[in-house]
This record gives sequence, structure tokens and C-alpha cells, in this order.
Amino acid sequence: MKFETRAIHAGQGPDPTTGATIVPIYQTSTFTWDGLGEHRGYEYSRTGNPTRTALESCLASLEEGRYGLAFASGMAAVDAVLSALRPGDHVVAADDLYGGTYRILEKVYRPRQVSVSYVDGRDPEAFAQAIRPETRLAWIETPTNPLLHLVDIAAVAKICHARGVRVAVDNTFATPYLQRPLALGADIVVHSTTKYINGHSDVVGGAVVTSDPEIYAAAKFYQNAAGGTPSPFDVWLTLRGVKTLAVRMRQHCSNASRVAQYLAEHPRVECVHYPGLPSHPQHALAKRQMADFGGMVTLRLPGGRSEADLFLKSLRVFSLAESLGGVESLACYPVEMTHGAIPEEERVRRGITAGTIRLSVGIEDVDDLLADLGHALAAVGAGSAR
Ligand SMILES: *Cc1c(COP(=O)(O)O)cnc(C)c1O
Repeated sequence: MKFETRAIHAGQGPDPTTGATIVPIYQTSTFTWDGLGEHRGYEYSRTGNPTRTALESCLASLEEGRYGLAFASGMAAVDAVLSALRPGDHVVAADDLYGGTYRILEKVYRPRQVSVSYVDGRDPEAFAQAIRPETRLAWIETPTNPLLHLVDIAAVAKICHARGVRVAVDNTFATPYLQRPLALGADIVVHSTTKYINGHSDVVGGAVVTSDPEIYAAAKFYQNAAGGTPSPFDVWLTLRGVKTLAVRMRQHCSNASRVAQYLAEHPRVECVHYPGLPSHPQHALAKRQMADFGGMVTLRLPGGRSEADLFLKSLRVFSLAESLGGVESLACYPVEMTHGAIPEEERVRRGITAGTIRLSVGIEDVDDLLADLGHALAAVGAGSAR
């Protein structure tokens, strides 16, 4: 079955006891046994819950993986993958990472004697050079946050597998509608389902998908052992959201590409990062690796913090907020919001400057979005003329 059909039906057959067409919210902590050693597949909701099972099966299907696991947040999903590392192990991570992933690597895993090297993810050879005998895992995001650099998943997987290193891809920005890392050779996909998968900015959640039984067994063990599981209501909302992932993504991509073009031609914008622009240095890779170019657009204003602040305050449709991937448009200031955990020196080295603004382009009418951005840029122009 095709993607759109699986999003609506995978893992979501009629309820076996009542025939309910929509998977019910199994709001129960525990399950009654028929006798010793006799239960119907569920014992306790940390270990397993039928609403969660439906979401886990659906996400596995969309990512073309064998196994899915849902978590209480994207970070709980990241942690479930990293939890397999032992003291002395080494991770090679692409830089330009989600701030929280950088933070858990540096502040949680490094003190547990897991070492991490950061490489420029745009260069697959950089992974080859950073791999050591004790390297266990490569960690990549593509497109990256917030600069929308791309990592060639197939090339990195080939290099890493030749050296016995597993590859995890955070597919939050692209979603399985645009990019399927497992099919490109990755071993593990991680999601913050908070973003496009749920798509309505009303749930925090995460997921891990893999086809490797060993990785699955370890992550499933950790899910139950550490207990970072989502509530039945949250997974139900996420399941409701994911049904429309394809139609939402098509509109996100179409709107974002219009926004990127508009900003690229605007005289008050210093530069625009969007994989769909022919000027993006990795546009060819984006066309090869992704079905379309996504809903995130990052721009840089020539001024500093005060100009960025004026721009953000002047927006009326875009809200100034962290997060992304919801139906409504958001603008975020990475330096003080999503990427505040990264030391300034490191941040500037990566090109995240005082003029950098990240847009999560929603699915409102695109003319309203362009008018809003135009109005805010005019306000910045008037401000700097004063
Ligand atoms: C938001 C995000 C995370 C963390 O997910 P939470 O649901 O906020 O815990 C991880 N990776 C990326 C790329 C994200 O955008």
C-alpha cells in the first residue's frame, strides 16, 4: 500500500472487542489476566498499551522499518538509542545538531565516559576520518537545524558500515513522507513526533524505528526499564495527526518554497537557507535524497539582535515560538531559543549568528504569509533608516 493509505490504516484496524473504527484511547494502567501465565498480550501500560502499539506499528510502516517504539518525547527517544552505549564507546556526530541532542551527548553521556567527535556532516569522508576502533554509532540529522545543511545518508551509511559503525538518523525535519533513512542504509530512525508527525503543536512525543532486531530489543528493554513512555491520550492524538501527514507535508513544502523564493529576492535579507533553492550548495543531493524540500526556511538579516527583535515583533501571522512542524507558522531565534545550550563560540563557528531566524512555514494561505514577512521586513527597514 502507498504512504497515504498506510498513514491512515497501518496498525489501525477495527478494535477487536467492539469494532470501533478509530483506535480507542486505552486509558488504563493495568490489564486483567485470565489466569496465571494467561493474558491477552498486555500487562501494564509502561510495558505495552494497545493505543501505543497502533502508533508504533503505523510509524514503523511509514519509515519502512520492522519495529517502532513510541516515547514520551523526542529526547526520550534519543536517549533510548544512546542508552546502548557503554563507557569507552565513541560517537561521531554531525555538527549543526538539535540543541537538546548536543546537550544530552555533552552533559549526560560524556560524563559517563562516552566520547563524541563532531564533524561537518556535509562531508561524508569526515566520518571516515573521525571513526576510531571504539566508535559504535554515527548520529546525523538531515536537513540540519537550523541551517538546513544536508547529510548524504547513503554515503555516510556506506562508510560507517564498512567499519562496523551503526548509523542513526534524526528524521524529524524531513519526515518519512519526504525521506526514508532506513531505505537509504541507516540502521535507526529517531523522531520528535512533537513536530510534523503529530503536526498540531499539542503533544510532546518521540519515536524510534529500526529493522534490526538487536537494536529493537535493546531500545524496547530501555523503554520499559527507564519508563519514558507516552500517555494513551498523547499517542492517540499523534495517531490522529499522522493520518494527514502527506497532505500537510505537500502544503508545507509548497508554502516554504514560495517563502524561500520571496526572501531570497528581498533586498533586506542577507541570505536564505532552503534545500529547494537552486542556490543551496547541496540542492542536487536534496533532489536525490528527498521527495520535496520541507517546510523549514532559515534566513539571516544583516543586522544584529535588535534588528532581529524588531522583525520578530512585527510578525502578525508567524508566532515567535520554539518548536516546528505544526500547521501554524512559527518564527524562532535559535541563538536564544533552540540553540541556547550550545556555547557561543561553537555556535558562531557553525554559522548561527545574531541575525539568524528560523521559520517553520505552516499551511496557512501563502499570500498571507508573504504579506506578513514583507510587512516585518519593511518595519526593519524603517527602523534602520531612523
Ligand atoms: C524537537 C527536536 C528533538 C527533541 O524532541 P522533543 O520532542 O522536544 O523532546 C530532537 N531532534 C530534533 C531535530 C528536534 O527538532
